[in-house]
Amino acid sequence: MALIVQKYGGTSMGSPERIKNVARRVAKFRAQGHQVVVVVSAMSGETNRLVALARELSKAPDPRELDVVVSTGEQVSIGLLVLALQDIGVAAKSYTGGQVKILTDNAFGKARILGIDEAAIRRDLAEDKVVVVAGFQGVDADGNITTLGRGGSDTTGVALAAALKADECQIYTDVDGVYTTDPRIVPEARRLDVITFEEMLEMASLGSKVLQIRSVEFAGKYKVKLRVLSSFEEESQGTLITVEENRNMEQPVISGIAFNRDEAKITVLGVPDQPGIACQILGPVAEANIDVDMIIQNAGRDGTADFSFTVSRNDLDKTVNVLDRVKAVIGAKAIEADKNLCKVSVVGVGMHSHPGVAARMFRALSEEGINIRMISTSEIKISVAIDEKYLELAVRVLHKAFDLDRPAL
Ligand code: ADP
Ligand code: ASP
Ligand code: MG
Repeated sequence: MALIVQKYGGTSMGSPERIKNVARRVAKFRAQGHQVVVVVSAMSGETNRLVALARELSKAPDPRELDVVVSTGEQVSIGLLVLALQDIGVAAKSYTGGQVKILTDNAFGKARILGIDEAAIRRDLAEDKVVVVAGFQGVDADGNITTLGRGGSDTTGVALAAALKADECQIYTDVDGVYTTDPRIVPEARRLDVITFEEMLEMASLGSKVLQIRSVEFAGKYKVKLRVLSSFEEESQGTLITVEENRNMEQPVISGIAFNRDEAKITVLGVPDQPGIACQILGPVAEANIDVDMIIQNAGRDGTADFSFTVSRNDLDKTVNVLDRVKAVIGAKAIEADKNLCKVSVVGVGMHSHPGVAARMFRALSEEGINIRMISTSEIKISVAIDEKYLELAVRVLHKAFDLDRPAL
């Protein structure tokens, strides 16, 4: 008998028929003698609908109240799934995040889980019940409802698996695992049997939304056995997120390609080329709580430099406002903003022992006439910023250039 945490995403919970399908799958695991804790998302489209509804009433919704609104989607899901389970004879009980006591900080809309009181869940499991927990939500020390950021049910699932020391955390979604890239963009993308935590963390933080970044961080930190599976297919083994040691030796250099449309570039033109200038520009940006990603600086011959960096597109206006305020102090000639940018990244732990990955990447892009605007690298990834209109072409071309459409040996 194993203790399994299963998380079902929005598409998997998208209609009464699909909820019945989830109930049948849960019942199957119960019948095999396993204890099952289920985490569910809101029905597909529901969270977007709730956000839009709130924005109809307020241009800048109060974050506490927005969380009160958007957390309701998951509450509907837990109740419906328990009804479906009871209907097929499976004893089950629903819990909101607050009822479990998934304690978070008070950063509404992007709260972090601080602790989970698993006593009530353990009692129900001991009574042979299936426990169904609302994903994406928690409660802060003052009893306020909080949410964990978009895609946050993955994190609820993994955090519960860690707290309960579950044997496995299964993330059921609308694809049967983690692919070499988003299969919606490249139909030739292949499912990976395994991917390392390190790679998955890079893929998630570089834009692959198949798992929320924090869920991967949690799984790595607490050694949760994590698998991504399809809720629609029975046969596939899905993808196991694993530590590198478990992998066979002959791994491809590149495991996958991630992309993110949500990028914007800011250039501060004609600043004095002298020590301290980067700090003078980025200090106020950091103080305004804006994350900076890629950075480049070009020094001219006239003693001035152009300083460019990227931020999330949502933060663009805020960043420009901050810089407008300090423009005179730093002696900048002008500030330029560019919204039509995206980021494409190749990821793979094999890259640090294989030279030439960057050259291969840049050649493939140049053969398609795609201009690279910025570059950033780490041990296991190379990212380029390019014009957004080339995003799909770039992903397809790189997928081919690194032989990702061919089956692994
Ligand atoms: P859920 O609602 O189940 O949480 P998501 O929409 O959050 O599902 O995540 C699944 C989607 O992630 C897939 O439909 C797919 O389009 C997208 N995706 C992006 N990158 C990848 C990838 N590398 N592998 C698999 N799916 C990916
Ligand atoms: N329902 C939330 C969202 O749409 C959380 C999740 O699906 O993981 O972001
Ligand atoms: Mg998701």
